[in-house]
Amino acid sequence: MNLVRKVIHFLFPSFCEICQKPLDDLEVLVCNSCYFKLPFLKNYCQKCGNVDLTYSEVSYCGKCLSLKFYFDKFIAGFKYEKPISNWILEAKFKENFLLAYQLGRLLNKTLSLKVPSVDVVIPLPLSKGRLKKRGYNQSFLIAYGFSGKKPELNLLFKTKETQPQMELSYKERVENIKDAFLALRDKVEGKRILLIDDVMTTGATLNEASKALKKAGAKEVYGCVVARA
Ligand SMILES: [Zn+2]
Ligand SMILES: [Zn+2]
Repeated sequence: MNLVRKVIHFLFPSFCEICQKPLDDLEVLVCNSCYFKLPFLKNYCQKCGNVDLTYSEVSYCGKCLSLKFYFDKFIAGFKYEKPISNWILEAKFKENFLLAYQLGRLLNKTLSLKVPSVDVVIPLPLSKGRLKKRGYNQSFLIAYGFSGKKPELNLLFKTKETQPQMELSYKERVENIKDAFLALRDKVEGKRILLIDDVMTTGATLNEASKALKKAGAKEVYGCVVARA
């Protein structure tokens, strides 16, 4: 630990979100013993995140062999279960900015070896209307914590105001989010991009955003979320 970090750590000690034990410098959000009890997502389909893979399905589930996805791979840290789900809700709706940032760091710690090397890490954007209403984009803060630097915001835009996906059926979700994103060719062409969001449910949103990036010439797009619902 360098001196500056030591001083910051001394002045602003942080505590485990679960058991309140003081954290050391390598622990993020929770202490090590609580960390290993988190609901990690394991052995999931690398397209849709389905966890019920059979013995013969190694990377993709049978359903995904016939579906077209625009992202090259789906990567997730956790199942959408407590305490992860509570933290995500707090980061999204209760303006807990630090928690959102720390969730990004926690995701990075958890996935470090599973994330392919990329040129740029960006959050899934909100539409102008939604951003104005909520005031911030939690996925921006997660991406910030994940990469340790301020994500670029001038690559991908959500140009269509859509209904919240939560209230819709799968078919409606696909229709609702269709052509909702726009990517700038001069910013994304030839790049390998890691697209970060808080939760993935059906993958319809991630897929549409990836479609826009691929259409604008992105070389590879990886969809990465804190939790798979
Ligand atoms: Zn703890
Ligand atoms: Zn699948």
